[in-house]
Amino acid sequence: MSTPMVRAEGVRKHFGRLEVLKGIDLTVERGQVCCLLGPSGSGKSTFLRCINHLEKVDGGRLTVDGELVGYRQQGNKLHELREREVADRRRDIGMVFQRFNLFPHMTAVENVMEAPVKVSGVSRAGAREQAHALLDQVGLGDRGHHYPAELSGGQQQRVAIARALAMKPKLMLFDEPTSALDPELVGDVLDVMRRLAADGMTMVVVTHEIGFAREVGDTAVFMDEGVVVEAGDPRRVLVAPEQERTRAFLSKVL
Ligand code: ADP
Ligand code: MG
Repeated sequence: MSTPMVRAEGVRKHFGRLEVLKGIDLTVERGQVCCLLGPSGSGKSTFLRCINHLEKVDGGRLTVDGELVGYRQQGNKLHELREREVADRRRDIGMVFQRFNLFPHMTAVENVMEAPVKVSGVSRAGAREQAHALLDQVGLGDRGHHYPAELSGGQQQRVAIARALAMKPKLMLFDEPTSALDPELVGDVLDVMRRLAADGMTMVVVTHEIGFAREVGDTAVFMDEGVVVEAGDPRRVLVAPEQERTRAFLSKVL
């Protein structure tokens, strides 16, 4: 077996006295899509933020591509990562949020070019060419010169996906990417994600789109109150769940 892209073993996180993650176990293999579901407040976003170094894990073990998140191993000693090292690691992980967070004063192409030029030192010409190709890939080849305010929510979200892909991440995290969209715009965004999955991208997707999770997910993980209640093949977990809590949740979102 190759090293999993994400492995969580007993991952814990608390904010003050509030325990948000109470020992999360979860594995995402390379090229797989893991869909995370669960009621609001169950710790899904916190878990994604831990993977992406936006929150610090308090206990357990969390590795991305075999490397312990937040630490560098030297011999058998662990050193906490410096800010620069954290930035280096984060570069390999793309994240897409519920709100698109595009730079409002930049066109779609400029949004997608920004990180490769500023962070990776790619030439403007090279970054522009790549941005056009990525916008093509998300079905926005003809919208490159538009500003975010001139695009629909679904189009903005697809630009946000292209922007994340511009850094050639090895892992993509999606935190309810379609929750803020009008229903008629959801399909195009899910189609882009479906194609990305088919192309072999490793993805962790927090979503309430049960259909997407069932069709595209390799695993579905149902979380509640900071624990994994049930995990496995989405065609089982989301169709014939074993746990009462999973059943209750599904009956609400379906
Ligand atoms: P979900 O994404 O499943 O809705 P979250 O991970 O956003 O859940 O939140 C889980 C719990 O942690 C919630 O009770 C939330 O209020 C709390 N929480 C999240 N971030 C913070 C923070 N920075 N400080 C304090 N509490 C937080
Ligand atoms: Mg959330």
